[in-house]
Amino acid sequence: MADTKLFIDGEWVEPRSGETFSTFAPSTGEEIANVAKAGREDAVLAIEAARKAFDEGPWPRMSGAERAGYLRKAAEIITSRQNEISEVEARDGGGTIKKALFADVPGAAGAFNYFADCAENVADVEERAASPFPPAESIVRREPIGVCAGIIPWNFPFIMASWKIGPAIAAGNAVVLKPASFTSLSAVEMVKAVEEAGVPAGVVNFVTGPGGSVGEELAQHPMVDKVAFTGSTEVGRRIMQLASSTVKKVTLELGGKSANIVLDDADLDLAVSGVLWGTFFHNGQVCESGTRALIHSSVYDEFVGMLVERAGKMVIGDNLSFETDLGPLVSPSQADTAERYVKLGLDEGAKLVCGGGRPEGLAAGLDQTAYFQPTILEADNSMRVAQEEIFGPVLCVMKYDSDDEAVKIANDSIYGLGGGVWSSDSARAHSVAARMRTGTVWINDYHMITPGQPFGGYKQSGVGRELGEYGYNEYRQIKHVWSNTSGSKDQYLHFAALSAALS
Ligand code: NAD
Repeated sequence: MADTKLFIDGEWVEPRSGETFSTFAPSTGEEIANVAKAGREDAVLAIEAARKAFDEGPWPRMSGAERAGYLRKAAEIITSRQNEISEVEARDGGGTIKKALFADVPGAAGAFNYFADCAENVADVEERAASPFPPAESIVRREPIGVCAGIIPWNFPFIMASWKIGPAIAAGNAVVLKPASFTSLSAVEMVKAVEEAGVPAGVVNFVTGPGGSVGEELAQHPMVDKVAFTGSTEVGRRIMQLASSTVKKVTLELGGKSANIVLDDADLDLAVSGVLWGTFFHNGQVCESGTRALIHSSVYDEFVGMLVERAGKMVIGDNLSFETDLGPLVSPSQADTAERYVKLGLDEGAKLVCGGGRPEGLAAGLDQTAYFQPTILEADNSMRVAQEEIFGPVLCVMKYDSDDEAVKIANDSIYGLGGGVWSSDSARAHSVAARMRTGTVWINDYHMITPGQPFGGYKQSGVGRELGEYGYNEYRQIKHVWSNTSGSKDQYLHFAALSAALS
């Protein structure tokens, strides 16, 4: 018997197969729940429920202001349960309780509130124009797309669920959400909040299970109009292929290998904090982590010395303690990946500056195999360790001599998701930022994401944007309505009128 269920057409149900899978607390290795394991059949039921809710239900036909009321209620419920949800999030995914309480839970409530504002205030009719000849009125409308599938990764399960459900339902769509198998539990809490807020049956559906079956069904089923995916670039390519079968809209938020550029006029103290935060927040398991630090040669030695000293002071331990900076990675296999990349880097000629293995001396009861030390490698940008996404606490530091060279190295990547510039000269920092081919650049800051600003990738980091009005509009179609106001029977197929309209 599963501890969790699927949510289909407003009901919590067992998967058709009755199968389950285990989810573990990575900090201790302890099994914490038996999760309902959906199969393709369950995914199809969820899609059909969403289709019915969209085609026949009240949701897409309500006013934006009415829908906004439900989203705000869900945000209130989330906030009222912040301690409980934060603990679920931290235990299941291994992130620190600080991250859950200060980023994940308020971030998700903030996203619901932001998209409620969009539903209320962003116009459905964007333009009206009158044409004198041929006499006509034009209206450009925005309308919901239909059934949206949301497929999310394990690194920020709660907030990612809000970034999929929030804009989709605010804009009047129906959704099927699938979390990653490592981290199903906090998404259950989000769906409960949406249910309790009174969102009608079928508008939000939820299936837990493997990507290879449930995820693939969501990405290819003909009744799905849009797939919003966050995850690895490799799976993103597969999603694009599957979605092409019925030419679905896709938004993809994929991997990264972002550059954090320290200019020679930077406040070094601030930049050291920023580079450590940019890399080691959540153990580097963040898509836009600044895992390549490019440091001007004139300050390089001093800067790397400061990085090592401060990295050594980071507290590694129980992720449920407020004292902890770094908890476990999501699983022992993710820590193995970090270890494998460190070895690969050393084989390629990189130099280990600090860290590089499992930490010693963890408190009794903690599973050392899921932990990894904050690690710094001196590397060359051509090395695999500097080109491939590791998704662990591994920072590559590199030297450069001019702003142009820094930009060139930063852009020498298949990815383009985030990036940073550290400088005391705002004009110079903006000039460097403008030349970086990446979706977000922070100047003298890192990881700052707000619901109101767009987030997404250049190059192989993705397609489309989440958040902001840009992200909201990714869940809306554009319709042009041309209305003939002449009353003249002669106008139809009238080439003079067509020619005037076209020119
Ligand atoms: P993943 O690509 O392995 O899995 C992501 C989701 O896709 C999971 O729900 C998984 O079950 C599902 N999935 C797997 N195979 C599938 C398939 N064939 N068809 C359909 N769905 C499938 O990623 P992950 O390991 O969960 O997360 C880490 C990755 O996510 C990193 O690459 C990271 O950069 C990326 N990420 C990107 C962003 C962003 O906004 N750009 C944010 C967070 C994470």
